[in-house]
Amino acid sequence: MGIKEKILQILFPKTCPICGDILEKGREICPECKQRLIYIREPKCKKCGKPFDKREYDSQTREYCGDCTKLHHSYEHGMAVFRYNEEIRESIFRFKYHNQRTYADFYGKEMVKCYGRHIHSLGIEVIIPVPLSKKKRRNRGFNQAELMANICGEQLGIPVDCGKLLRRRDTVPQKELNHTERRKNLKNAFIIEKNDVKYKKILLVDDIYTTGSTIDACAEMLRQDGVEKVYFISLSIGAGI
Ligand SMILES: [Zn+2]
Ligand SMILES: [Zn+2]
Repeated sequence: MGIKEKILQILFPKTCPICGDILEKGREICPECKQRLIYIREPKCKKCGKPFDKREYDSQTREYCGDCTKLHHSYEHGMAVFRYNEEIRESIFRFKYHNQRTYADFYGKEMVKCYGRHIHSLGIEVIIPVPLSKKKRRNRGFNQAELMANICGEQLGIPVDCGKLLRRRDTVPQKELNHTERRKNLKNAFIIEKNDVKYKKILLVDDIYTTGSTIDACAEMLRQDGVEKVYFISLSIGAGI
């Protein structure tokens, strides 16, 4: 540990992303809290990565969740680390709104542990975090997706580009809207800022995947810019219906 890290550790000791307690040196989470997190495993949707209820899967061997059967997505496929449960919900809340930016270390590293090999096998050239609007980023001081993307990029040796895709304006909070309204709300919310660098395969990073409308809106813009394949990784995801 360098002198700067040591001072930071004393001034801002690393806390557990789940219970918020100060952690023992070298830890990223308490062992008990880790057990309260549910890792996404098979069986899951081949498109969005939402896990299926095991019993239901046994009875009808499905490939896609209800959403992905009905809807066309603009991305190739997605991966998620944790089930969206109470623990993750509260953790993300503190991460975003209580300036707990060190949580990104644990979360970014878990993304790499779970999907690093798969990401490499896809031939991803660049990682792009789902952007916040300038105003929101300024008020919050950081973009949580960007912090996780930076950890992933560092660990995987893949560049992170935070200047390619921008969010134009603040949209109405998505949770207040139904599916059609969500899509409409997000239409044209994202813009391609830089045209000089062209990518073929991109990985988007976000904290929560629900209906996929945000990822789709980003993927649509990127594809208009010539990107051939867009994948995503999300810290958390709900169950597939
Ligand atoms: Zn804990
Ligand atoms: Zn799905």
